[in-house]
Amino acid sequence: MLNKTMLNLGSNRSVIRELFEYGKKQIELCGAENVYDYSLGNPSVPAPENVNINIKKLVDSKTSISLHGYTSAVGDNAVRTAIADDLNRRFGTDYTMSNLYMTCGAAASLVATIRALVTEAADEIIAIAPFFPEYRPFVEANGGKFSFVSADTENFQVNFDELESKISARTQGIIVNSPNNPSGTVYNEDTIKRIADILNRKSKEYNKPIYIICDEPYRELVYDDVIVPFVPNFYDNTIVCYSYSKSLSLPGERIGYALIPSKCTDATDLYNAIAGAARICGYVCAPSLMQYVVGACASEKPDISAYKRNRDLLYNSLTEMGYECAYPAGAFYLFIKAPNGNAGEFSEIAKKYNLLLVPGDSFECPTYLRAAYCVDYEMIKRSLPAFEKAILEIKKCSDY
Ligand code: PLP
Repeated sequence: MLNKTMLNLGSNRSVIRELFEYGKKQIELCGAENVYDYSLGNPSVPAPENVNINIKKLVDSKTSISLHGYTSAVGDNAVRTAIADDLNRRFGTDYTMSNLYMTCGAAASLVATIRALVTEAADEIIAIAPFFPEYRPFVEANGGKFSFVSADTENFQVNFDELESKISARTQGIIVNSPNNPSGTVYNEDTIKRIADILNRKSKEYNKPIYIICDEPYRELVYDDVIVPFVPNFYDNTIVCYSYSKSLSLPGERIGYALIPSKCTDATDLYNAIAGAARICGYVCAPSLMQYVVGACASEKPDISAYKRNRDLLYNSLTEMGYECAYPAGAFYLFIKAPNGNAGEFSEIAKKYNLLLVPGDSFECPTYLRAAYCVDYEMIKRSLPAFEKAILEIKKCSDY
């Protein structure tokens, strides 16, 4: 007898992975230059030069025992101090290493946080659609109840009334992800203040803390002069789950952290519960070499000019063709309204032209499709006729 939940999770690939595998087969059949794969959110910009310089420096300067040995479970002290100092410089906070727990990326940070907050099967975690599909298994496989607020397809901020109505005495946390995967939108200051307002009211009503779980792998990926509000400065009970996967293009290296500000209710217990949950994830400590690298590169900023160029080309070309898209102020995703109103069907139509777009059903927004534009600029240019053909097919049908 096996654990059915785990068997199910391991046996069924996500829609995104299915599409990616399909793309690989199409490449064999049609050639790489004729397949336009927008399925995966794998950074296409290399890690900053400073990351590679520091890897080499570390390999040359530390003994292999100190470089590759276990760090303490919470992470190396100097690394956590460097990250805290950088956050303090940028956001006017007063964190120390004791507020940080190093993790294997945002995924591990989210799992540990959710596990720490879910005490019984009826405890709820709420997400705001559209959202990263892994939230659901992260909550449910850890014994919690997952629910979500439906997408605000007008401007991809938040349906505040619905959020308020979904919060109950069993709500332990709300996951907030901005810049957002899959919509690319950034929650503005007004949105964050209104969420904070609702949670303050509800925490008082139910006489318990309701935490914001702030999932921030895209914090640094924001274009033009758009500002990403730093949520802990607006709501005390905020836990930040951060990752270097996208900001430093290190997704395979598995490095990130959980930030537990001292202003959180029961902050020490909360930190220890997250540490306990991380302990039974079984990874012992975040990868040591990568800890030292992000410690040395704590203030490093990504060069997002290539993503911005991709965004501008894709967004401008598609809107000119008649597609409606959420305006992507950050991350590297374009959320496209299905011209026929059904993302699953439109994804199949697009596949006929070797255009791979993820239907929004798994993000709980089934009228939109996600295009991850962390791809080669030339691929975007080559893909434009395929987008044109796909929308023409819909226009022709609706003419009849
Ligand atoms: N959260 C969101 C919104 C993501 O898009 C991703 C990865 O794509 C993750 C979390 C997980 O990131 P990590 O690679 O840091 O585990």
